Amino acid sequence: DEVTRLLAASGARSVADLGCGEGRLLVRLLANPQFLQLIGLDASAQALEKAADRLKRQDVAGMRDRVTLLHGALTYRDERWHAAEAAALVEVIEHLDADRLPTLAEVVFGAAHPKTIVVTTPNAEYNRLFPALPPGSFRHPDHRFEWTRDQFAAWASAVAERYGYGVSFSGIGEPHPDFGPITQVAVFRR
Ligand code: SAH
Repeated sequence: DEVTRLLAASGARSVADLGCGEGRLLVRLLANPQFLQLIGLDASAQALEKAADRLKRQDVAGMRDRVTLLHGALTYRDERWHAAEAAALVEVIEHLDADRLPTLAEVVFGAAHPKTIVVTTPNAEYNRLFPALPPGSFRHPDHRFEWTRDQFAAWASAVAERYGYGVSFSGIGEPHPDFGPITQVAVFRR
């Protein structure tokens, strides 16, 4: 819901949801008529099938013309989504090995270069508030890393600088006074 709000505030009429998974963000975006063209991209064909099923259950006029699902990887240039005015990466970057992130940045920020990019990722500092999570472990077995706020800010600021974006940081959920929010958010604008 917060990402939908941020994308709506950006004024974008077209959004590429990169690593769209099962389409939870796409159904929210679809409900807002501001978004005329929506693209969901994911490397997992299985996730895309679930996204297609979820979308089919929505009763929204003109849906077939507004949403396109693409099977693809964020580590390859893909002109099929380059026309999107905004892109979202919601809980996606931590699924790539850290040494693939420069390639992802080149593909998303460099080659596609949308006006607005919203990135969310877990805030590792918050993990100590999960009693069942052993220290040093991740929230999901497929996560390759989880970053503190400083680590995320360092990565995002370097990417913004390199590709000509400004970046602002926020969070999702009530922030803990010491450990911050459960999920961290960066909004890049060019
Ligand atoms: N954004 C969704 C899904 C997050 S899970 C949500 O918030 O619900 C991470 C998703 O990223 C998975 O669906 C996974 O298949 C996808 N993914 C991971 N690496 C990818 C890559 N290199 N290219 C495209 N998608 C990728």
